[in-house]
Amino acid sequence: MKQALSLPGDVLDTQTEAIKTRLKALADGQTVEISGQEGRLTLPGNADALATAYQADPQATLVAGATDVGLWVTKGLRTLPHVISVGLVPDLRTIEYTPDGLRIGAAVTYTQAKEAIAAMLPDAGEVIRRIGSTQVRNAGTVCGNIGNGSPIGDGPPVLIAAGAVLKLRCGEAHRSLPLEEYFLAYGKQDRKPGEFIEAVVIPQPQPGTVFRAYKISKRFDQDISAVLGAFALTFETDGRIASARIAFGGMAATPKRAAATEAALQGQFWTEATLRAAQDAMKADFEPISDMRSSAWYRQTVAGNLLTRLFAETAPDYAGAETRLAGWKEQAYV
Ligand SMILES: Cc1cc2nc3c(=O)[nH]c(=O)nc-3n(C[C@H](O)[C@H](O)[C@H](O)COP(=O)(O)OP(=O)(O)OC[C@H]3O[C@@H](n4cnc5c(N)ncnc54)[C@H](O)[C@@H]3O)c2cc1C
Repeated sequence: MKQALSLPGDVLDTQTEAIKTRLKALADGQTVEISGQEGRLTLPGNADALATAYQADPQATLVAGATDVGLWVTKGLRTLPHVISVGLVPDLRTIEYTPDGLRIGAAVTYTQAKEAIAAMLPDAGEVIRRIGSTQVRNAGTVCGNIGNGSPIGDGPPVLIAAGAVLKLRCGEAHRSLPLEEYFLAYGKQDRKPGEFIEAVVIPQPQPGTVFRAYKISKRFDQDISAVLGAFALTFETDGRIASARIAFGGMAATPKRAAATEAALQGQFWTEATLRAAQDAMKADFEPISDMRSSAWYRQTVAGNLLTRLFAETAPDYAGAETRLAGWKEQAYV
């Protein structure tokens, strides 16, 4: 016979109402400071308080969802003397439609942002669906994915191709930066001491724009990208490519635009000849490295082949030409 498990009253069971009341009282918009022997935590009550706290101690570590920073502690065994929370700042947890586009605040998680981003850019929604796991997307923020400056983060290439603009704040000073200009070199971003990301703004795609994003990873789900290519082509009414914004992750030390590839596409009709020229041009854009995720050869090959995939999905003269796709597959880009 099973015996009922009898445990001494858990404090969460015995004092539920009192604890709820105390927790609600904490959400009064006031900044909370917690100090201990191992360090200090600042929970700013609003964005102004965050700006003040970070300017006062630019050496502090900003933490949003902690899906990256948490690993510095649990895997890297680092101690963080002063942590300032971004993720709990209420006025940064906002998604707004502004005249400049969709504005996603620094505390907005991938789960919270997914629907709004996917409504604008369906392929970006699919990329978000494959970021980490449900738990990672529930905690990890869109702006934390930018803040970590990783060359293989999934958000930055997608947002760069979409023409996103970063909103930065240092004390009372605000500035805007095209997202691609934020990434200066490996581990180095255009961010002054005490400056933080307030939001990222994704402009509404212009009429005639097709947007695609392709994540290539060893496992389909729950894996970091080997290569991620994001493409925004805007067509003239006569079928010419008016503008091309193409960005890759995993191909350089930072998320990077494919300037030569874009130039090869601009003003051209989207034909196989244009595709070939763009693939040739791409060789000048990137010199990827080999690492545990893939070889340099694989990255170059895949990046070129993603252009073929883009062509197959979007070229007006492509419809029905199945045999040509077979031909392209044989001519792998090497
Ligand atoms: C199991 C697992 C799977 C993952 N899978 C993926 C994946 O598939 N694709 C992917 O791209 N990433 C993945 N990641 C990485 C991570 O989840 C993302 O980079 C996430 O978006 C980071 O957001 P965060 O809010 O957790 O950032 P945090 O960990 O809080 O911060 C990350 C960095 O950004 C800085 N930062 C945070 N907010 C700001 C701000 N407002 N201003 C300036 N700097 C700031 C922090 O100081 C830190 O350097 C994975 C992580 C884990 C643990």
